[in-house]
Amino acid sequence: MALPYTHHYKLLFSALSLKKSGSLHLQPICCVQCNSNVSSSPFTEKHSLQRYQRDQWVYNNSNNNQQLISLDGDDQAASCSVPSDSDSIRLNDIASQLPELRKLLEVLKHKRESCSGHVPNNGPGNVFLVGTGPGDPDLLTLKAVKVIQKADLLLYDRLVSNDVLDLVGPDVRLLYVGKTAGYHSRTQEEIHELLLSFAEAGANVVRLKGGDPLVFGRGGEEMDFLQQQGIQVKVIPGITAASGISAELGIPLTHRGVAISVRFLTGHSRKGGTDPLFVAENAADPDSTLVVYMGLSTLPSLAQKLIHHGLPPDTPAAAVERGTTPQQRTVFAELKDLADKIKTAELVSPTLIIIGKVVALSPFWPQSSKQASCLVEN
Ligand code: SAH
Repeated sequence: MALPYTHHYKLLFSALSLKKSGSLHLQPICCVQCNSNVSSSPFTEKHSLQRYQRDQWVYNNSNNNQQLISLDGDDQAASCSVPSDSDSIRLNDIASQLPELRKLLEVLKHKRESCSGHVPNNGPGNVFLVGTGPGDPDLLTLKAVKVIQKADLLLYDRLVSNDVLDLVGPDVRLLYVGKTAGYHSRTQEEIHELLLSFAEAGANVVRLKGGDPLVFGRGGEEMDFLQQQGIQVKVIPGITAASGISAELGIPLTHRGVAISVRFLTGHSRKGGTDPLFVAENAADPDSTLVVYMGLSTLPSLAQKLIHHGLPPDTPAAAVERGTTPQQRTVFAELKDLADKIKTAELVSPTLIIIGKVVALSPFWPQSSKQASCLVEN
């Protein structure tokens, strides 16, 4: 079975003890790592400043507010400089774009007024809620690529990968609205307002979301708000992390005789603590596959509860960091050991967790004792 990225992998097996007894009963602990530099993030969180520079949106250091101004048109003569102090860049990151956004809005309105003689329908523009998949740009749909190439304004957040943003048309304005520690971030209400103002000005607005916009993406809330204001939202689905990552690892999420259903859950606690919702009781089904989004911090407690409610402690499981990107790292372990293995491997967000017998069907899951304690490099 040819899998993408196979050449990146380094398979590190340890402490494998295997019993094959007709049913799936494997006890591997395996860490699959890629050879790339793991410190560089494939996602946009660390690159928003560079994106503004691509857009020629630069910071004017001439006043305390460090307003962001454009080098386009008449502003070309203005003296612009990027402050050397990276903290001040961060502090003014997104907030300082608002003047520029206002200007863009005026340009759009003006364009619309001057065209209205020729264009009979002067209704609102289009808002597209677009899923970008888990990171590999080849996983974008053709529809998504078409839309992101001709948008006026594109709002993106943390889990949209840089490789995906490279496909955005050169004239599209990009605005980072993700939440990253140390950065200003737009509140959900502000994002709603931005989408609305630009749609009302007749713009083609694209809201990019990692994975599928309607799977743990808050896409539904943005759609709701805009629809209440009379703006129709078009949704372009994306490959959700569960599908993209399971495909990458060769894990069938359902499999005849092994898993009759698959369940996507969030590891986020409703109360913000470490209590992984109240799902463990219902989710502890050995004949189903569980895919846990945002589950890194609550996994120790979730694993314990699943076992408490009847999931076998040796249920195969995998945790995949930065799945489908060249920086992908994967930890395979039995459920009872998974949290410890993740800690040892120091996996960071975004990480997806897959729990269920189907994980042992992955070609990367150690199949025989021959593979124990061996290091395979491609
Ligand atoms: N709408 C997204 C999910 C957003 S919630 C989707 O459909 O995939 C964010 C969580 O998704 C992360 O915490 C992580 O659990 C998972 N995730 C998204 N992209 C990922 C990736 N490339 N690698 C690993 N996990 C990912």
